Amino acid sequence: MELVILHMSKGRGGRPRAYREDISCPACGSHHVVKCGKPRGKQRMLCRDCSKYFMLNALYHHHPKALKEKALKMYSNGMSMRAISRTFNIPLGTIFSWIKRYEGNVHETRTPMVKG
Ligand SMILES: [Zn+2]
Repeated sequence: MELVILHMSKGRGGRPRAYREDISCPACGSHHVVKCGKPRGKQRMLCRDCSKYFMLNALYHHHPKALKEKALKMYSNGMSMRAISRTFNIPLGTIFSWIKRYEGNVHETRTPMVKG
């Protein structure tokens, strides 16, 4: 039974789907990537646009830059981290680290308040 299914899926189309929405090339940011072997048990990917290899495991928590910028924009517009997390289906901790880094870049001066 399994052999029949494998044969059928292999025989159709010919070209594998190369566009991965969840994975982007670290070199050029392209989503036009394909699986290319598994050395040492780690999934290796090949970028079709710049022909560079990269490991999938290292990008497990990688999110596209555009998404990050969108999330930061929403945050600066007054949206809460929790709401952004739910909107993009990204862990709250990830959002938090983005915002922390973003605020670090802005060099926000904070006056230490001892008593309120
Ligand atoms: Zn690339």
